[in-house]
Amino acid sequence: MPRGPPGAGQVFTSYIDLLYPTEDRNDRLKDSYFFTCDCKECTTKQKDPAKLELRNPGDPPSPQTIRNMIQYARNVVEEFRRAKHYKSPSELLEMCELSIEKMGTVFGENNVYMLHMMYQAMGVCLYQQDWEGALKYGQKIITPYSKHYPPYSLNVASMWLKLGRLYMGLEKKLAGTKALKKAIAIMEIAHGADHYYIAEVKKELEQ
Ligand SMILES: [Zn+2]
Repeated sequence: MPRGPPGAGQVFTSYIDLLYPTEDRNDRLKDSYFFTCDCKECTTKQKDPAKLELRNPGDPPSPQTIRNMIQYARNVVEEFRRAKHYKSPSELLEMCELSIEKMGTVFGENNVYMLHMMYQAMGVCLYQQDWEGALKYGQKIITPYSKHYPPYSLNVASMWLKLGRLYMGLEKKLAGTKALKKAIAIMEIAHGADHYYIAEVKKELEQ
């Protein structure tokens, strides 16, 4: 569904999370909505190489090693989803750290499976009120997020918002202001400038 002001680029609301590679997205669509997508991104798969970034693209491991690691990553994403219901926060954090370490032998830091587990780790840190830990993950996530998601993505806005609030809470006002302004700039285009939520965030800037 394209919307938003002309010239701002199209803003899409999506059925699925656009972070993931084409194959994952279409598996999801087939499972949940019974269709395959034929948008430009899905037919050209042009963002997939960056989303599946390798640690050392100049000297890549064998295709089989890459396939195996993608399979491992998809399994660990699923396993973590289930584990959230019964494992303790510290066990969950360990699961994130171990899988990031293992994937890091093949994948680069901008690989979306690495980012997925970093995002989960950030969530656990937030839950444990470990603000520094959450910030550390968030700072790693934001740049590749901005690259993988389409422009004016609310997922990116939401990450800037989290970062902004973490910086503010940790008395890093300059970085906090910058991050909150980035969030607002995206939300103004995605939601429209007079959305109530934007006013809320602007209030946080004035404190
Ligand atoms: Zn698509």
